Parts: sequence; C-alpha cells; structure tokens
Amino acid sequence: MPAANKIAYLLERLAQGVSAHDRENPSHHTWGIGMAHFDIERLGLEEGEQILPGIVLQSDGGVTGAFRVLCDGDHDAGLEQEDEEVVDAVAESERELVIPAPSQRPPLQPPL
Ligand SMILES: [Zn+2]
Repeated sequence: MPAANKIAYLLERLAQGVSAHDRENPSHHTWGIGMAHFDIERLGLEEGEQILPGIVLQSDGGVTGAFRVLCDGDHDAGLEQEDEEVVDAVAESERELVIPAPSQRPPLQPPL
C-alpha cells in the first residue's frame, strides 16, 4: 500500500478535480472517478470502492497516469490532462518505496 499521506494527497486532487468539474458543469451529476485498471492496481486501490463521498472508483479503460471525472453529462474529455502528473507522482513514489534498500538486498553471487 502506498503511504497514507500519498493517498491523502491523491484523494485531495481527486476532490479538487470533481469540484472543478462540478463548478464548470453545475447541471452534471458526478458519480465516479475513472482510472485505468493498471493505475488502480499500482495505487493499491479497489475498483468499485467509494473513493470520495458519493463517488465510486471505476476502471474505465482510459489512459494510464490520469484520472477522469465520471458524470452523467455530455462533454468532451478535457479534464484528464491536467492531473496526469498526480497519479504518476503518487504511483512512482510507491514504486520507489517497494525497492529494498541496498543493504537489504541479498548479495550478488557469481554464477557457479
Ligand atoms: Zn460532466
């Protein structure tokens, strides 16, 4: 699992994305956040979980490294671009965290 503060940061950005969307599209009903399945996995999240109040996380088959605000409205995909760095930043940090420190790695052995 990524560090709790990393996920908290991600959730904050998701909430900001949703509120930015809702501000610009007050007639839309936002019901979810879409992410690529790959991102959901690497972030340690669960598809179908309520990631924000009233907002469900969905695997949407979209590009990795970004999230999409899912709503019942109709508009073109202009929302995903600006938040690509966030998903990558959080996921990249996690990838670094799971690499053991050099001292914890088994010593390299020459082939016999
Ligand atoms: Zn919308």
